[in-house]
Amino acid sequence: MQFHTYAIAMPTRFRGIDRREGMLVEGSAGWAEFSPFLDYDARESAPWLAAALDSAEREWPAPLRTRVAVNCTVPAVDPEHAYRIVSRSGCRTAKVKVAERGQTLADDIARVEAVRDALGPGGHVRVDANGGWSVDEAVAAIAALTAAANGLEYVEQPCAAVEELAMVRRRIDVPIAADESIRRAEDPLRVVELEAADIAVLKVAPLGGVHACLRIAEQIGLPVVVSSAVETSIGLAAGLALAAALPELPYACGLATTSLLDGDVVADALAPVDGFLPVGRQVLDPGAYAAVAADGQTDARWQARLSAVRAVLA
Ligand SMILES: [Mg+2]
Repeated sequence: MQFHTYAIAMPTRFRGIDRREGMLVEGSAGWAEFSPFLDYDARESAPWLAAALDSAEREWPAPLRTRVAVNCTVPAVDPEHAYRIVSRSGCRTAKVKVAERGQTLADDIARVEAVRDALGPGGHVRVDANGGWSVDEAVAAIAALTAAANGLEYVEQPCAAVEELAMVRRRIDVPIAADESIRRAEDPLRVVELEAADIAVLKVAPLGGVHACLRIAEQIGLPVVVSSAVETSIGLAAGLALAAALPELPYACGLATTSLLDGDVVADALAPVDGFLPVGRQVLDPGAYAAVAADGQTDARWQARLSAVRAVLA
């Protein structure tokens, strides 16, 4: 199997990076993506390769739905900008970044109010603190933001540690979603054991693939929100396959992330229509890929990385 390397610029820095790199491969079942972040070592990248090979070589589970509701994402921007992002997106659910370093709770409140205005009373507002609060800060901020939003759907990762999530959860009524607390396949069970969250955010690539995630979802018995690792449309299609196969899908998924990339590898990048993304295999388009194909040096670096990760998987 031949792996093709891409390098795509990002219009806004995200996760400290301004360029997304990865590899694409076609197997007997279709195209798949291998794109562990650059700071991940071979061992940490192994489930990403397992996920790519799973998607390339195995049929995905039978879908129970043909499209998946997705949220728009509002970074830590000013209220006017937040309003524009939400109203342009067409999504009925907005995920709002809060607890950004260098900003205040007043900034978060103003942003959340603007998002509620843009969505109207029928939309869903969720916030993501990316672990930025202490337990006491979280309890106070969540109360203030619940009032500002006139109801929050849930709070994602209010604190960094899973033990802290459990403490916050005992003190508030708003559901808590675990995101950064779930990075490896064994993590979701710990979240359940500590009763630290009401919702699990699952990402297909770091957890070993669509089939592995479906098993995790069955084991943990929590509602699942499928999110991306900022992949191309080929990688996102695997997330949509998981979302489509889950028996219950009560929340919009975090898969509308192609707008974070200045390019894609398919003819029509996955963009939400009326707040939904379609389920199905995505196929590499040679013309689109040519515009984002990595240079020789980047490709050589990824081929070496691939060999190292293969050695871990073997
Ligand atoms: Mg998150």
